[in-house]
Order: sequence, then C-alpha cells, then structure tokens
Amino acid sequence: MTPKKSCAAFDSRLAEMRSIAIKTSMNWFLWVNILFSLFILGRRYFSTSVVLTPPLHPQGWLEAMQVVVLMLSAGVLFILRMAPIQNAKWLRALARSVVIGLSLCWAVCFYVLITSEDIRIIFPFAALLLFTALISLYFDARVLLSFIAPIWLTILVTSLFHPTNLTVMNALLWMLLAGLIESGRRILNSWFMLALRREQENIDLIQQLGQLASKDPLTGIANRRAFESQMDREIASHQRDGTAFGLIMLDVDHFKLYNDYYGHQSGDRCLTMIARTLESATRQNGGVVGRFGGEEFVVLLPDADLATLESTAQAIARELQTQALAHARSPVSPYVTVSQGLATWASGQTAQSVIARADKALYAAKQQGRNRWVLA
Ligand code: GH3
Ligand code: MG
Ligand code: MG
Repeated sequence: MTPKKSCAAFDSRLAEMRSIAIKTSMNWFLWVNILFSLFILGRRYFSTSVVLTPPLHPQGWLEAMQVVVLMLSAGVLFILRMAPIQNAKWLRALARSVVIGLSLCWAVCFYVLITSEDIRIIFPFAALLLFTALISLYFDARVLLSFIAPIWLTILVTSLFHPTNLTVMNALLWMLLAGLIESGRRILNSWFMLALRREQENIDLIQQLGQLASKDPLTGIANRRAFESQMDREIASHQRDGTAFGLIMLDVDHFKLYNDYYGHQSGDRCLTMIARTLESATRQNGGVVGRFGGEEFVVLLPDADLATLESTAQAIARELQTQALAHARSPVSPYVTVSQGLATWASGQTAQSVIARADKALYAAKQQGRNRWVLA
C-alpha cells in the first residue's frame, strides 16, 4: 500500500472509530446528564426548607433548564435507540448540537446556583460533570470543547463577578481544572490514536502479506494459488447463471535451450516479458493471467465462448511475434514462442477437470510441433 493510500485509509478509519466511540459513550453521557439533572431537581425537594418558586424567579430558570436537560437527553437516547445513525458525519453533527444544547442549559443552571446558593457545592459538581464529558468525548476535541467551554467560562466569569471570600482561590482552582482536563484529554487521546495506528499497521501488514501470498514475485501476476481460488470463484458464479468460461494453458517452447544459451537472468526477463504480453493480449476480453509454475502460464477468460477463446490464443501468438524476442536455439522459430491448450468450462465440471483438459490440449500442441494452439 502506498503511504498516500495508507494515510487516506487511516483518516477514514479514524472517522469511523470516532463515530463508533461517540455512539458508545453518548448513551452513558446522556444517562449521566439525566441523573445529574434529577439530582439538582430533587435536591430542593429533599431539603428542609422547601419554597415554591414563582415562575420568573431565578430558581424557576434553574428548574426549567433541568427539565430541558432531562427531555433533551431522554429524547436523544430514544432517537439513538430507535434509529441508530450510521453516517459518521450526521452522528458527529448530532452529538455536537446535543452537547452544545446541554452545555448551555448547565451554564444557566450554574449561573443561577452561583448567584443564589452555596458556592461550595458548585465546583465539585461542575468538575464531576466536566470530567464525565472528558471520559465520554476525549477522542473528539471539538465536540468535547463544545460541552466544556460554555460551562467553564460561565462559572469562571460568574464567580469573578460574584465575589466571595474565596474568589481568587476559586478562579485559580477553576483554571487548574482546565489544565487537568486538557492534559487528561491529550493522554487519553494519544492512547486512542496509538491503538488506531497499531490497528492500521496490522491491516496494512495483512494486506501486504495477502499480496505477497497471491502474487508471483518474478512477474507480478497471480501465482498458482491465487489463480486457483480465482477459478473457484469464477466457477461458483458461472454455476449460478449457467454460462461457460474459457481457459488457456501456455508453455514456453524450448525454454531450457533459451536458458542454456542466454543465461538464467535473461530467462527471467523473458518470462516477465511473456507475462506482460499475455496481459495486454487478453485485456480486451477481461482475461486473468497467472503463472502456473516454471515457464507455464494460464489465462482465464470469463464469459468466453469458443470463438473468443481461439481469437485470444491467436492474439497471444501474434503479440509474441510482434515482440520478436530472439531465441537462437529454438528449432521451431527464430523468436520466443508458446504452445497453448484451450478448454472451455461447462456447468458441472470441476476446476481440476478443466485444467486437466487444457493441459492435455497443450501436450497435444507440443506433440504436433509447438508454436500453435489446440482445442480440448
Ligand atoms: P518444451 O518446449 O517441451 O516445453 O521444452 P522446455 O525446454 O521449455 O521444457 P522443460 O520442461 O524441459 O524446461 C523448462 C525450463 O524452464 C527448465 C527450467 O530451468 C526453466 N525455468 C523454469 N522456471 C524458471 C524461472 O523462473 N526462470 C528461468 N530463467 N527459467 C525457468
Ligand atoms: Mg513446461
Ligand atoms: Mg516449455
């Protein structure tokens, strides 16, 4: 895999993993919001001094906001359960709008609580809520910031303008909390990215191994194993629609003499040239080329009838003739030639039987003088 391709694959995997993580932790985060708002709502009714609040009293705002938090959290939980969103972009947009909505409601609540109640419970309560957000959303800095920023700023500004005897201390502690949250986010996110990178490396490695295991290292075409599994897939698909396909087995003529005369390295180059020629001569008919072993090649022609099979064999011989790679020791031609055995597959036959028939036809082509094709 090229680094660019690998980078694009990593980016799309990152987006996918973020959406999975949002899906997983959003449920928990929404339940925590429900519990926290129930706590704020219930706290007043368990206290000894229950006072009914008039509608426009700040406490009325606090309760109204808590009801919004409850309804918003429950509503989104219901939506996520009934219609799970698959699209990562939509999920992220929903998560962002929900956390902004929740955060604004909490900001109003904390404002009311600071201006009217015992300030000591606000900081631990708000810190707990912000750390919950950190645990749920550390992998997406923007979504996390959308939740944290309104609450954090509201508490900082309100507590500065609503001085108590602990104003400076509280402001300092509140800034320290921001530092703690950001450093925590970085640490958690670095583990998230590390796990993802490791996973991407493993995927790349498996892909490379798969390619190595299926490609012939000399010519770069499919090796025998990959070709045979391609044949099995082709047979399964043709078995379903009842159509036939063609197979050509090829063997280089007098290749031992070529090696003896030109050397093994030239022999390797010759095999590579033949592989390229087979690819270009069969491309038009959708041929799949493989190296069967040594100087033997195979071509699979999906949907090919007898006429296509023969015209492809002819095209291969013609292109090799055009390449005109010298073979000074060949008794059949001054150039490199191949013998070809042609066979068609019909429904009910196995891969082995069609290969055996093509091989038999190839043997016949050799017997008849080489540099020709024979139909099984
Ligand atoms: P025929 O026309 O009957 O096929 O004769 P031939 O000489 O081509 O057949 P034979 O089976 O006697 O020899 C095949 C030769 O192919 C022998 C072997 O050294 C050579 N060969 C097989 N694989 C490779 C390879 O990867 N590189 C090179 N350079 N030669 C190879
Ligand atoms: Mg051979
Ligand atoms: Mg040969």
